[in-house]
Amino acid sequence: MVTATIDAPPQATPRPQRRIVVADELGYCWGVRRALDIIQDAANPEDRIAPVGDIIHNPQVVERLRQRGVEGAGSVAEAVDRGFSRVAITAHGMGPHLAKEAEAAHVELIDTTCPLVTKVQRLAQKLVRQGYFIVVYGDAYHPEVRSVIGWAGTSKALAAKKMADLPWNAKRGEPSPGKVPPPRKVAVVSQTTKNIDELMAFAQELQALVVPEGGEFRLCNTICEPTSERQRALKRLVERDEVDLILAIGGKKSSNTARLAEVGNKMGVTSYHIERPEDIEEAWLQDADTVGVTAGASTPDDVIEAVVAALAAKGYAPPEGGIRPVDPDYVPAY
Ligand code: SF4
Repeated sequence: MVTATIDAPPQATPRPQRRIVVADELGYCWGVRRALDIIQDAANPEDRIAPVGDIIHNPQVVERLRQRGVEGAGSVAEAVDRGFSRVAITAHGMGPHLAKEAEAAHVELIDTTCPLVTKVQRLAQKLVRQGYFIVVYGDAYHPEVRSVIGWAGTSKALAAKKMADLPWNAKRGEPSPGKVPPPRKVAVVSQTTKNIDELMAFAQELQALVVPEGGEFRLCNTICEPTSERQRALKRLVERDEVDLILAIGGKKSSNTARLAEVGNKMGVTSYHIERPEDIEEAWLQDADTVGVTAGASTPDDVIEAVVAALAAKGYAPPEGGIRPVDPDYVPAY
């Protein structure tokens, strides 16, 4: 007798639970919190304040501050034209010209420069006094970089983020037609929000041009502790959890958020820089069971929470314990 066997229907492979994991350091840094506290304490819709430039690289916060009488202006002159009697320096800092312009225009100046940026400005001045040509490793257009060059107060300072941005293309002691060697003393400081590995690689290449024939080279690692800590926390997250996708949340102009997405991609995890929950594309989530979340130094908690909520609505288990609690007593080393 032949017994017919009936094949069991194929079992669907159980899908691992989809979940969200968050970096243990993310979002607002100490310097941004401090700047916002200063501005919010001073805010008064009857006596508006004009930060020169964005008070923070986050459009949601900029809009909230606008409702409290804090509205960016391109310059002191523009603020005066628009009827402001108070102007502010943002956490990124400004060159010394701004205080002089405010004084000349008889407007009150509120300074929210992050002390970690002030440290770089002072260091640049000291290096100039010691005879160094200053290279600021960073984005030439960024207000912080421009402020450091402004405080250096010399024509012997420039911004660069790759060797091709520099006017030098030969080692010292090897002059030849069309080749320009660097000066004898060169010092590098960094924009506070850059990536340490990239800074080191840049510095090594430059050092090789400077040190022959008695040249002096100094590298000052001025990447701030909160920035480094956010990048390290993301690395820890990738090493600890099997993350399939990383979302780095922050304003499109936020340099340190862009760095976080770069760190994730370099570690082999597809990473996107998003500004808000609406930026998440369905296709990204297709094969992503575990989504890692991080956020730049100017991203408020409620925007991070909105992204977590949007993922939860798509079936992802929220992170145990929520996003990191703020330590009100934390002050970074500087
Ligand atoms: S990123 Fe660093 S330097 Fe910039 S405001 Fe925050 S703490 Fe200050």
